[in-house]
Amino acid sequence: MPKKIITLLLLLAPVAAFALYKPVRVLAPELFGDVHCIDDQICIEEPSRLDEARALCDASLHFVADTVRPFQQPPRVIFCSSKDCQNAFGFDKAAATTVGRSGIVVAPRGWKPHYLRHEMIHHRQAEELGILAAFTKPEWLVEGMAYALSDDARATLADRWEEARQRFLKWYEVVGRDRLWSAATAL
Ligand SMILES: [Zn+2]
Repeated sequence: MPKKIITLLLLLAPVAAFALYKPVRVLAPELFGDVHCIDDQICIEEPSRLDEARALCDASLHFVADTVRPFQQPPRVIFCSSKDCQNAFGFDKAAATTVGRSGIVVAPRGWKPHYLRHEMIHHRQAEELGILAAFTKPEWLVEGMAYALSDDARATLADRWEEARQRFLKWYEVVGRDRLWSAATAL
């Protein structure tokens, strides 16, 4: 293959990654979604709802930092008000989704404190356990922790998540708050 073409392909590779793997788009939200990035913390589709988004974010950041220790770098949160916006980042059904340490996308139905807290716990997991933790660590730890420590008010969840929450709580009772991350790392 001629050198020029190889160079061109290499140059295009990041663009292809952005185009093909939509979740990567959280790295440059304004390029791919109809959102405005206000600062390092918030991108929003409907700027008239900024106060609401800011209040949700601040309260959740404090809650999660208190519960599972302070953030190394707080996540950037992309607040979508439409399905199109959510889809632009590659998400369909979830109320909110975390992409490693890169950011959180909140769907129209996800503007609720427990969803934000849940996703921010996933962000802390990525900080403490690595960005692949969601794939390499047991589901009862990853999801169980996010459901159990986000103060999710739902008394019972769908079976799969309820089992994860209960199993995590049993483990957490033994491990305790101070050893949360060291014990999780060892799993
Ligand atoms: Zn989750």
